[in-house]
Amino acid sequence: MKQLIQTLTETKNLQDAELFSLLTEEFDESILFAAADGIRRQVYGDAVYIRGLIEVTNYCKNNCYYCGIRAGNKKVLRYRLTKEQILDCCRIGYELGFRTFVMQGGEDPVWDDRMICSTVEAIRKEFEDCAITLSLGEKSKQSYQDYFKAGANRYLLRHETATDAHYAKLHPEEMRLSTRKRCLFDLKEIGYQVGAGFMVGSPYQEMEHLISDLRFLQELTPDMIGIGPYLTHKDTPFREFPNGNLPLTVRLIGILRLMFPHALIPATTALGTIHPKGREMGLKAGANVVMPNLSPQDVRKLYALYENKLATDEEAAESLNKLKEQVTAAGYRVVIGRGDVKKG
Ligand code: SAH
Repeated sequence: MKQLIQTLTETKNLQDAELFSLLTEEFDESILFAAADGIRRQVYGDAVYIRGLIEVTNYCKNNCYYCGIRAGNKKVLRYRLTKEQILDCCRIGYELGFRTFVMQGGEDPVWDDRMICSTVEAIRKEFEDCAITLSLGEKSKQSYQDYFKAGANRYLLRHETATDAHYAKLHPEEMRLSTRKRCLFDLKEIGYQVGAGFMVGSPYQEMEHLISDLRFLQELTPDMIGIGPYLTHKDTPFREFPNGNLPLTVRLIGILRLMFPHALIPATTALGTIHPKGREMGLKAGANVVMPNLSPQDVRKLYALYENKLATDEEAAESLNKLKEQVTAAGYRVVIGRGDVKKG
């Protein structure tokens, strides 16, 4: 395995069969993590970038089978933030040192292009030195262009799985992998820093699917790659399926760091939810971003994509301090700054 890891480090690539071994066989993973950490330190040093996550709406017109805020879930109490509430989140975040704001939400018809653009414009005007990231789902190229013109810089849209047949098991008929991919290429063409990614251990997932995910990422070459374990939500059609696997997720982070030395890779909330040390493990395996929640405290629990989502009642400042301690304990350093991608 040592040889494979060395080849992956040097060439940023492996054959399918070799990736399969790396994903499935037992070996001393510390070799993988040390290699990934070495590359991460070469490119990004010990910096960990923080992104303030603002969950702007949990209304959604879609019915993804895995997601707790799917339209068909009648048990969720729905909310949407106003522009003023979002600006308040940014103000609190800015004081704490955040220089990237991420607006994420369901595909909410009321949160339409006009509202998105006017909110982006307002943030852009008040926080000139900050990056604005959107994660609002599938839109037309024209809409993406409008948000870009309004001042958005980055867009997160996980492809979820790069295998059509698997995509069809996770989503209803009207949702297509080809649409998702089209969106990602549109976003890239417009000039966004683009983030893709997938869930690990989602229902019906096989190793071959994960290898296809890595191949798709090689084709897209995104600036950001977000992965996390699938986590069960009891009010979805997938209530009977178990959570994804923590060690496999962490192993994949290590592999991603070696394949994509310049990528921004978050230690995700899902990783922190499945295990108290999950985020720390992610950082040590090559992740270099964390995305603390800046949403108003009363709505954090309502944005429940999965159960037991990390959602403290703490003030943003208090949880940021704890996070900084965790990052320091892991051997890294939270920095203030936009944390743009370093291009290879
Ligand atoms: N509507 C936006 C934002 C989706 S929420 C969009 O379509 O991109 C962000 C991510 O949470 C999703 O892309 C998905 O990968 C992840 N997610 C959703 N449900 C999940 C679950 N049950 N377990 C783990 N991750 C989940």
